Amino acid sequence: MPAEALFSDLRGVATVAYLGAAVLFILSLGGLSNQETARRGNLYGVIGMVIAVVATAVLAHIMKWNATAWGLVAGTVAVGATIGSTLAKRVAMTAMPELVALLHSFVGLAAVLVGMSSLLGTDHPTGTGALVVHSLEIWLGVAIGAVTFTGSIVAWAKLKGTLSGKPLLLPGRHLLNALLVLTLVGAAVPFVQDALGHASPGPGLAFWLLVGNSVVAGLLGVHLVAGIGGADMPVVVSLLNSYSGWAAAAAGFMLGNDLLIVTGALVGSSGAILSYIMCAAMNRSIWNVVFGGFGANAGAAPPSGEAAEQGEVQSATPEEVAELAKDARSIVIVPGYGMAVGRAQHLVNDFSAQMRARGVNVRYAIHPVAGRLPGHMNVLLAEAGVPYDIVLEMDEINGDLPETDLVLVIGANDIVNPGAETDTSSAIYGMPVLQVWKSKHVVVFKRGMSAGYAGVENPLFFHNNTLMCFGDAKASMEGIVAALRG
Ligand code: NDP
Repeated sequence: MPAEALFSDLRGVATVAYLGAAVLFILSLGGLSNQETARRGNLYGVIGMVIAVVATAVLAHIMKWNATAWGLVAGTVAVGATIGSTLAKRVAMTAMPELVALLHSFVGLAAVLVGMSSLLGTDHPTGTGALVVHSLEIWLGVAIGAVTFTGSIVAWAKLKGTLSGKPLLLPGRHLLNALLVLTLVGAAVPFVQDALGHASPGPGLAFWLLVGNSVVAGLLGVHLVAGIGGADMPVVVSLLNSYSGWAAAAAGFMLGNDLLIVTGALVGSSGAILSYIMCAAMNRSIWNVVFGGFGANAGAAPPSGEAAEQGEVQSATPEEVAELAKDARSIVIVPGYGMAVGRAQHLVNDFSAQMRARGVNVRYAIHPVAGRLPGHMNVLLAEAGVPYDIVLEMDEINGDLPETDLVLVIGANDIVNPGAETDTSSAIYGMPVLQVWKSKHVVVFKRGMSAGYAGVENPLFFHNNTLMCFGDAKASMEGIVAALRG
């Protein structure tokens, strides 16, 4: 078979493979939406990605890559895969949000670099119309990429604690954001004009304008995320996830790669939907998030002396909690960030299995922003072997709490704060919470009286029906499990 015919056949095969990979990615997203099908969803994603990589290699073969190009790509993939798999194996579940934020930043950086190389490369479309569209793709792709890159780095530093979680509220910050956006829009005109006039590639005016674009968009990313603080961070993580998808889609347009466009659009739109769901869970409008005013009242000051005015705190030992549990007919367990820090999930599962064996109705209540990333608690509970059917969402369980004998709040704070319903001055006012105070008894497991992520006081700790079990969540659960066995 002549080489040309073979190449054209191979191109067709690669296109069909891309289509298959895109379908697998959609099935993967569908699978990941449910705990029982999540493993299968993950597998679809892995198979889709393998197909995508092989098809891309075939396309590269058609483009007649030389040995140096193959060597460089293979070397980069090997180094990246080694670092990625080592990091993924070592990362603690509590550090997962930081890792996710960092990974988003790489997608943004890749889009910036793809944009620059597209401009400097020789593979430009012919015809003025096509060239204008191509230049705009590059301009937009670099801008989205740079916002994603710097925004994700700031989110990473905030989640890690390197940067303060408090919002940076510069005077006239909305005006500053608007000016940065207008600069980006305005500078697109000379960029396109110059890109059109330059038949030969090279670092001309267009290139330097593109560098300026990445600096301005980078500043916008820093400023947008720095202005958000406290309990609003989960929406930022999920919004950056969406931005990274759009950055990948933009890179797909620049490279003329259909699969990258489809995959980027899938990530971008699913991230946007997740952001919307998170906004609803935190009682914020998505437009308020995107266009500013966001985080203005978040990241409140740590609790003050007012705590003393709230009343007495009653504490209980693990043995006393075990006695309470023995008398209960229904128990609801509310896991939070502290359960992840204390790695207490296995002991919590031991406890619930023992209680279920005694005929007690045990269920878990998951708040949409419990922990530090969407689905954090579900992953931990699944890892510990908690049956899926007793893990309920906030809306499913809130109505049952008044009839519940005992609620165990394990290392959670903001998500069970009654102040979110009653205290209009609270940074989390309006955020729907688990109404644990309506049950007969509440036991809160934490090490001391410190505030949660949003930095606000929690009146729950002073309620008459609340007992505080102070100490590390794992040690306390160990005590309870031992007392039940004894
Ligand atoms: P919080 O951060 O509100 O509270 C966690 C509590 O755990 C703290 O009060 C802490 O108290 C306690 N704790 C810490 N370590 C231990 C330990 N070893 N043993 C026992 N207790 C411990 O967590 P929630 O899950 O209640 O709420 C999540 C918060 O995080 C919300 O404000 C949410 O908006 C925010 N967030 C959520 C994200 C998401 O995507 N889900 C992302 C980013 C932020 P003490 O120090 O006294 O022990």
